[in-house]
Amino acid sequence: MLAAEKIKEWLGVPLGLVYPETCQLCKTRRATARDGFVCGRCWSHVRFIRPPFCRRCGLPFAGELTTEFQCTNCHELELHFSFARSAVAAKGVVLEAVHRFKYSHALWFEDFLAGLLVREAAPALREEPWDFIAPVPLHPLKLREREFNQAARLAAPLARATKIPLNGQLLRRIAPTATQTLLTREQRAANMKHAFAVRPGARLDGKRIVLVDDVFTTGATTSACARALRSAGAAEVCVWTVARGL
Ligand SMILES: [Zn+2]
Ligand SMILES: [Zn+2]
Repeated sequence: MLAAEKIKEWLGVPLGLVYPETCQLCKTRRATARDGFVCGRCWSHVRFIRPPFCRRCGLPFAGELTTEFQCTNCHELELHFSFARSAVAAKGVVLEAVHRFKYSHALWFEDFLAGLLVREAAPALREEPWDFIAPVPLHPLKLREREFNQAARLAAPLARATKIPLNGQLLRRIAPTATQTLLTREQRAANMKHAFAVRPGARLDGKRIVLVDDVFTTGATTSACARALRSAGAAEVCVWTVARGL
């Protein structure tokens, strides 16, 4: 169920009576629950990721490249997923919505953000068979503090749209990691390497898994998750995120 509908159900009233029908990003134009509380003008600033991009990490490349390529980042890093894709650039309105959704509990952005992911990821995922969708987990301490896992909230609508089963229990975050924003790419990778584990007893032999997160930055987090899944027998792990840090 979508966040807006859930709130509506709790309260038993039309959502417009609870939230003013105003865009929650610019706070000036009209936007309803149905619009995800984001107006047409703010929507027009969303930048979808389009080819050409690195076939491995999905980094968009400005230019008229017609052949497949792999970016220099991917040559330097050992990545454990087969490919990563993102729906949109983590800039402007999207970045603001992600931050407010995640850090300020602005759950009304869930429909907007999940909508971007579903729109781009669902058609691509339908082209190949996938066994599970697994959200990147939060450490239990972080989960208690934030009260929800943003990756799990975004993965659920994608699972419904693609009919790929959601498995939120597959991965566990075993090491609480401090915020990564001030670390270098190498430090992030080292920090993350042993942060995740697969639930004991999970049978993943030959499984093809879609990992979901909100933002892809260096790939350190998703690669560490993919590493854990692959060592538990998964045949392939791909990554889909709503936004891509550029
Ligand atoms: Zn707006
Ligand atoms: Zn790359």
